Amino acid sequence: MRRALGTALVVLAALLVVPPPAGAVRAAGEERSAVVQTRVVGLSVKGRKIMAYRVGNPDAKVTAVAMATMHGNEPATRHILRGIRDGRKVKGLDLWVIPTYNPDGLARHTRRNAHGVDLNRNFPYRWADLDGSYESGPHAASEPETRAVMAFFDEIRPRYVVSFHQPLHGVDTSVPSVRRFALRLSRGLNLPRKRFVCGGVCHGTFTQWFNHRYRGKAVTVEYAARPGQHRMRHRAPRQLVRTLGGHY
Ligand SMILES: [Zn+2]
Repeated sequence: MRRALGTALVVLAALLVVPPPAGAVRAAGEERSAVVQTRVVGLSVKGRKIMAYRVGNPDAKVTAVAMATMHGNEPATRHILRGIRDGRKVKGLDLWVIPTYNPDGLARHTRRNAHGVDLNRNFPYRWADLDGSYESGPHAASEPETRAVMAFFDEIRPRYVVSFHQPLHGVDTSVPSVRRFALRLSRGLNLPRKRFVCGGVCHGTFTQWFNHRYRGKAVTVEYAARPGQHRMRHRAPRQLVRTLGGHY
């Protein structure tokens, strides 16, 4: 009996030693060692948390923010930011990542939030009353997600911001004031240079709002519809950290 119990315990112990996922760079016992601070930026319409993770060195000269899934039906690029969050310690850079900006949209796989608003048309700069898939909301900054992110940026005031989208496969190099940073992202992430001009005039977009309001530089980066798992989880995280001036 005692021997049987002993064998059972050995088997149980073996089962509890879960192997790390393929390509994991965490050592045992170092849960999310890259993360130095975790924060709830705010809540979505449905009460889901919008999380921000700070990685790297808070004393580094350059502070940057990267965010993804502002549109819930563009789910791939959040794996870049999760890859950074769950990866090795980042040095030489103070970086915040927001993998899921629109958690309600992600849950329902919709572009817009739970109020049916396109969060990338809801910012209070050149806001216009748009309908359809670009529904801009009843007024500028009407959505809790928008207000939460605005307050976050007002506090953090990063020098660089990368806003990830899909599926246009390119980096927006159309804005003269941020063009140098955009060219650097295009080279560093191995994506073509493109012009994303919203079919004429952009209204209420995040990057326009940020670039108008702050001295930092925000650029839209689009990956393709299916950018590939290895690229999202392994290659792009390292490329992004290096492009922003960090290292491992
Ligand atoms: Zn998008």
